[in-house]
Amino acid sequence: MGTIWLTKLAEVARRTGFPVVEVPGWQSRSRSSGGLDTFHGFSEHHTAESPMMDGAQSSNYQCFNASAKPISNAYVSRVPKIYIHAAGATNTSGAGGPWRKIPLNAANSNSFGLEIGNNGTGEVWPVDQQLCVVAFTAEMYLEYGAALGWSIDDIFAHFEYAPTRKIDPWGPSMFNDYLRTKWNMNTFREAVRQKAIPPVPPEPPTTPVTLTWVAATGDQDMLEFVGSKDHPGPTRWISNGQVRTVPTEAYCRNITARGLVRNTLEKPTLLTDAELAGLPVVA
Ligand SMILES: [Zn+2]
Repeated sequence: MGTIWLTKLAEVARRTGFPVVEVPGWQSRSRSSGGLDTFHGFSEHHTAESPMMDGAQSSNYQCFNASAKPISNAYVSRVPKIYIHAAGATNTSGAGGPWRKIPLNAANSNSFGLEIGNNGTGEVWPVDQQLCVVAFTAEMYLEYGAALGWSIDDIFAHFEYAPTRKIDPWGPSMFNDYLRTKWNMNTFREAVRQKAIPPVPPEPPTTPVTLTWVAATGDQDMLEFVGSKDHPGPTRWISNGQVRTVPTEAYCRNITARGLVRNTLEKPTLLTDAELAGLPVVA
């Protein structure tokens, strides 16, 4: 029996910001083999159902009425909502493979199955539904990918795993330039990658800082500020040209900037880079 139960499924789904429906019993629902043996891939499917079946009707079928129930771990309706179906292994993918880390005919016990509402015969995929699928897949990758051993490249379409039997997901979407074809899974995986690992934002402009002088004792004449929350670290002070370690954080408690200042008694001023470079360093 498999031992991996995805008990954080609903919590992960909610991180997408899309509505989540927890179908009662999902925490212990699985096919007869129990939990997943491994979580080494994430599969995408269309339901091949009419829009008339969308939502609760489809969810009920997948969890309770299908002969091969449960036929998905989760389901994204056209609205979209994310229905949480099963924390254990499901009968989503059937025969196929081997595909990357998934052995022959073993996707049901070794991968996650996401069903997505679409008739698969040309129905245009709603934009919000596509964005929901990308967001959910990305959140699942962030939660479980590194932890359980799969990467974004291990996300697959049913047609990649079972090319002679399956075409899903199929139909006009942003992943195939809205053509009547199968999804381009490289385009889909790239969308997930962008969602999961957003580009690094540019450095915010440096805001002017107010220098607060520190009550000094002895003969110190310069302080190095390394004490603000943005710049934690050891603090040194410079006395008569020698760098010394400040013994306690009390020296920099009110410091809001980083840099060496010259104590002019009136007001501290930042040293220039050239002056900093010329300072001796004492270990
Ligand atoms: Zn499928």
